[in-house]
Amino acid sequence: MAADMEEIVNLCKRRGFVFPSSEIYGGFRSTYDYGPLGVLMLRNVKEAWWRSMVQLRDDVVGLDAAILSSPKIWAASGHLQNFTDPLVDCRNCKERWRYDELAPDSDDGLIHCPNCRSTDLTDARAFNLMFKTYVGPVEDESSVAYLRPETAQGHFVNFLNVLQTSRKRPPFGIAQVGKSFRNEITPGNFVFRTREFEQMELEYFVPPDEAGAWFDYWCQERLRWYAELGIPSGMLRLRPHEPEELSHYSSGTSDVEFRFPWGWGELEGIANRTDFDLRQHSQASGVELQFYDPTTGDRYFPYVIEPAAGATRTMMAFLLAGYDVDEIAGERRVVLRLHPRIAPYQVAILPLSRNDRLVPTAREVLHLLQPLTMCDYDETQSIGRRYRRQDEIGTPLCVTVDFESLDDRAVTIRDRDSTEQVRVPIEKLVEEIQARL
Ligand code: ATP
Repeated sequence: MAADMEEIVNLCKRRGFVFPSSEIYGGFRSTYDYGPLGVLMLRNVKEAWWRSMVQLRDDVVGLDAAILSSPKIWAASGHLQNFTDPLVDCRNCKERWRYDELAPDSDDGLIHCPNCRSTDLTDARAFNLMFKTYVGPVEDESSVAYLRPETAQGHFVNFLNVLQTSRKRPPFGIAQVGKSFRNEITPGNFVFRTREFEQMELEYFVPPDEAGAWFDYWCQERLRWYAELGIPSGMLRLRPHEPEELSHYSSGTSDVEFRFPWGWGELEGIANRTDFDLRQHSQASGVELQFYDPTTGDRYFPYVIEPAAGATRTMMAFLLAGYDVDEIAGERRVVLRLHPRIAPYQVAILPLSRNDRLVPTAREVLHLLQPLTMCDYDETQSIGRRYRRQDEIGTPLCVTVDFESLDDRAVTIRDRDSTEQVRVPIEKLVEEIQARL
């Protein structure tokens, strides 16, 4: 069963995944804070991406570039000129809209303001999405800088640094995870579109004649990643861009899309950026950003295939896809069927009651499992209610310590999805938990 947005937003607030930012001051313009469970889950999303893109490969290295950088980067990359959305104002209610998101009315064929229905809209004008700021104490044109609207330029301007220090050669990639900022005209749909968000981007440098094959490879590889982490295939699709949708740097893009409650929406864009960025930066900086192949004597600008995903948006997709309601012994239960790699906690340790005799063994089990994975420990309320609480936050396994445990040195493992329980000696617990995760 797929959740609707309200259920997810409520669950996120109630259980500490995501809070509206600046809440005690009435919130702040579609910004959000990640709470105790949200921070764990978001880290897991990023970690799962890093594991698949860097750890399990020998052709990709990592990078963590600064958010602030020379404004010359954004001039050369074309963002100052082209990173715009078409903005229209409603003259009647003064609301602002992205023109490309407004559709003509089916009755009269006119474009109406979604807020007040007026057709008195200004002409569309290009609105640059980059946040501008000043670096240093003087606020003048020479101190202007921009918060990065994508992490990708950090990969391009460090191309030679990475090439020289990692001794990689095309085909190879540079991976980066970090915050990006866009002054979106219409943020919304919870954390789907925010002005501050986190991206997970790979720039994969290839010989130009191999770009087509690598583009296809990365489309399939990225689709596989979402499916492997539990998003059902019916909620995922790959959608090639129409020529008029393409970004200024792209010769071909396909989006991995997810079936959100309001329709299909992008999780990740996979673009063939050609040699656009490296050429632009070579020209603008005067530093030659070509690859020199000592075996053939060739010197060339690699083409770049870029799978660019949103960490915060992907976390929301995992929550939506995992949300389920079933019935256990005639009782309604909310359960987040999250992949163990993505769930905030992998194990919850629950003494049957708060009895003083149980607590030492329960804490012994906790300390046994903590070095292995993220554990929750909960000794309040009835055991049934505590199972429900763990189901609702997606914890795959609960370990229960009861009075028998004191005699037989065994505990019960309960599975979130099947609710099946098995008895396991404490001595074998680490092995057993590892096998199940
Ligand atoms: P959209 O069409 O939704 O504005 P985009 O095509 O501009 O997205 P890209 O530039 O391809 O997005 O960025 C790569 C990924 O970064 C997106 O697929 C998305 O997951 C994430 N992303 C982009 N903008 C935002 C945002 N404002 N809030 C949250 N995530 C975002």
